[in-house]
Amino acid sequence: MMKMSNIVVSKSDASLPLKENETTAFLGGTILTMDPLMERAKTIIVRDGRILDVGDENLVASYPDAQTIDLDGRVMLPAFIDSHNHLSFACFLPIWADLQGSTTKKAILDAVSEHASRSDREWVVGFPWSDVEDGGEPLTKKDLDEVCPDRPVALIHGTFHKLLLNSIAMDMADVKHPIMDRTMKGAIQSPNGEFTGTVCEAGEIPALEMALGIGTEEYAELIEKRARSFLRYGITSIQDPGVTLAAEKAYRLLHAQGRLPISILMMPHGISLLDNNILARLDEAKYGAGDEMLRVGPVKLFADGGINGSIGNEGMIGGRTFSSGIPRDDFVQPLSEAISRGFQVCVHSIGNGTTNAVLEAFEKAAKLAPSGFELRPRIEHMFIMNDDQIARLASLKGCASVQPFFFARVLPKKVPCFEGHKWFPIGDLVNAGITVCTNSDDPGFGSLTCIDPIKGALIGAAMGDSQSPFFNPNQAIPFEQWIWMYTAGAAFAGGLENERGMLRKGLVADFIILNSIDPADSPTVCETWKSGKIVYNKEMEPA
Ligand SMILES: [Zn+2]
Repeated sequence: MMKMSNIVVSKSDASLPLKENETTAFLGGTILTMDPLMERAKTIIVRDGRILDVGDENLVASYPDAQTIDLDGRVMLPAFIDSHNHLSFACFLPIWADLQGSTTKKAILDAVSEHASRSDREWVVGFPWSDVEDGGEPLTKKDLDEVCPDRPVALIHGTFHKLLLNSIAMDMADVKHPIMDRTMKGAIQSPNGEFTGTVCEAGEIPALEMALGIGTEEYAELIEKRARSFLRYGITSIQDPGVTLAAEKAYRLLHAQGRLPISILMMPHGISLLDNNILARLDEAKYGAGDEMLRVGPVKLFADGGINGSIGNEGMIGGRTFSSGIPRDDFVQPLSEAISRGFQVCVHSIGNGTTNAVLEAFEKAAKLAPSGFELRPRIEHMFIMNDDQIARLASLKGCASVQPFFFARVLPKKVPCFEGHKWFPIGDLVNAGITVCTNSDDPGFGSLTCIDPIKGALIGAAMGDSQSPFFNPNQAIPFEQWIWMYTAGAAFAGGLENERGMLRKGLVADFIILNSIDPADSPTVCETWKSGKIVYNKEMEPA
């Protein structure tokens, strides 16, 4: 079936790097393009790191010099895009105390003291800290003082929205915000007025900045290492929703030295972590500036927080009104300023109450957009919505970003929902024409298991996992559509649809080869290709 003039490369030889400027034809399997204009193809032609052509089995005849790679019945599709991945935070994990699975006071303090004795860094940092709300034991600064009296200690909560500090760290960070205000500065006090060591949301800023202080070269090395580990999951591109000035420097260094293993969309974050003070960053960068390895993406703002007490929910349950959180109002002005300067904006809004405020801000700011600018409002961490909000987001041609791994934190608990609202109404969003993108929010709760898009798509499609079938099956959408949300949907939400996310003529040749696309058949990444070169091959992996 293949033309004799084509050089046929067998499946196992595909691990050899292709020659520069070589034209290559991929055929002999199922090709899912994720492109609505041509959903399935039989042949993909690649040259110079780009997709040169897409077509049926006869296409290869038009490229007689092409070397041919036989997919051997496997499935080729665009590489995954993790559209919300905190690479520039998660890269620190190897230099922090690993508290994954440590919930007792003793286990946490042992891990901290052991790490302190090994590490010669000034700050002793641990992650993820499970506090009382996560089933852990109570812990205060005094407990940390006992095991580490002479160096600053910071335990970072799994959400990143809460920190436990010891006394030295409290002094260094000059903590003085006993009540969470509307810019979300907060520190928790005991009944006698003493700080317990727990600081929340924007109250974390001074301590977090000191704890994360690191030289650019070392930061770059940590990022490079973690980014490389994503290739085995078929991820060749991420969108980092928390790019500080320091992180941007490290990314730019890696890019200048040709060391970026994956493409990065940098979403500019406020001057400090978790703040909305974005204006100075807009002066330095232009939306979309960069190239296919490193680009400036949507601005990231916060409408609420990430923990009980800071997530902005409101609604009726059983005839009673409930509300929580302190909705921030300091995102509204930066949002309209960013849009008037031609930036897309994504807003962290977990709560349904803050989502109303976010929709209103986008509706007003839409009038300020430069002419010809297609506004694409993006709501980050969609948990709960009502029909009115879905209709408003749809009429704004907006996007919703969801993390299937979070289903497991909500749905099995059978948490009641506000009247008129639904938990994770994915099916309704899709039917309303909203672009849903999906992602890991890595490091999630500290474990790399949340990074795998196939696992995420399986949880998403089932609205649950084998251990716990979740409720809301009528909102479930098929596995292949979740894969679309990890590829074309993610590209669109990042403004990258003319660069990646589909197997379409002219886009980057970033793709993966799976054994199967059938969710019942354990879909697995066999190969990952980036810019037309193989960068991961399961068969070459050490057992
Ligand atoms: Zn996040």
